[in-house]
Amino acid sequence: MERVDVVIIGAGPAGLTAGIYCGRAKVRTVVFEALSAGGQALMAGTIENYPGFPGGISGTELIDRFKRQLLELGVPLEEFVKVEAVEPKDDLFLIRTSKGQAESRALIIATGAQPARLGVPGEDRFVGQGVSFCATCDGFFFKDRRVAVVGGGDRAVEEALFLKNMAREVFLIHRRDRLRAQRILQERLFKSPNVKPLWNHVVSEIKGDETGVKALELLNTQSGSRTTLEVEGVFIAIGQQPSSEIFRGLVEMDPQGFIKTDARGNTSRPGIFAAGDVRAKELRQVSTAVGDGAIAAWSATQYLESS
Ligand SMILES: Cc1cc2nc3c(=O)[nH]c(=O)nc-3n(C[C@H](O)[C@H](O)[C@H](O)COP(=O)(O)OP(=O)(O)OC[C@H]3O[C@@H](n4cnc5c(N)ncnc54)[C@H](O)[C@@H]3O)c2cc1C
Repeated sequence: MERVDVVIIGAGPAGLTAGIYCGRAKVRTVVFEALSAGGQALMAGTIENYPGFPGGISGTELIDRFKRQLLELGVPLEEFVKVEAVEPKDDLFLIRTSKGQAESRALIIATGAQPARLGVPGEDRFVGQGVSFCATCDGFFFKDRRVAVVGGGDRAVEEALFLKNMAREVFLIHRRDRLRAQRILQERLFKSPNVKPLWNHVVSEIKGDETGVKALELLNTQSGSRTTLEVEGVFIAIGQQPSSEIFRGLVEMDPQGFIKTDARGNTSRPGIFAAGDVRAKELRQVSTAVGDGAIAAWSATQYLESS
């Protein structure tokens, strides 16, 4: 069984940064990542708001740089190893993974979040057949087609802006009559002739056949009327749900399952820290995930010195 000072769960921007800080503090650390390193940043296409990269940087290149910096420090990054359970054991934590077990004195949870689902009929059935949560990943399949994006925040507008360059028409379906997205994104959206906002509408059903999505059933939240919108793809960008299920009962969470921490990344259980999108906080971005990762690693090293 591997025995280290700090186990970091998740290698998105928060976990990779925490790993870099732990590596520089020379504490024995291992990072477990269920997939390949990168997290949601890999879906982001071009990231334009991460400081230091005027003109933007692709999510994959940014992550490649984070990862190289971690590996240069000699911190082990175990990709395709999913953490399945964590159990407190005396003053240690026992971490059960898909490839064995590890013990650590401290734990940094950086498991991030996943796209929230609409929860309407047809959504599960058509995932991968017209229902997508990532325009950068799947937009290519909708060249010259009619597609819809659902949501009104930054993510939804970014998805629509990405899709407008390949799809014939992009409908932005939003349940309110104005967007929450940053102004700069809204301005770009409203200048795009093939993007059509549909205000005060929600999707009540996703319809299709064995070849994939064919239409959306929409409900007008003002009038109560129902209409059918013919599209072949729907990109859902209505927020996130935390990847925190395995930590239920171990640390305190808010009602949505985001992990509560103080400003130093301490969770309700001594020795366990949380960083990034999995944490209960306001702004979920690469820059804030990086800040959280640094703070959690610093707090974990302080904890190791004092315990
Ligand atoms: C389409 C899209 C566009 C975006 N655009 C921008 C942008 O332009 N600018 C910006 O700043 N931000 C953007 N973001 C948000 C940004 O990507 C996230 O805020 C950031 O990635 C959060 O980092 P994180 O490390 O907290 O979590 P994540 O990136 O979610 O990484 C968490 C990692 O933990 C792993 N994991 C989960 N559970 C386990 C487990 N049990 N065991 C092991 N590993 C596990 C996951 O596989 C994942 O790799 C975008 C996000 C999306 C989806």
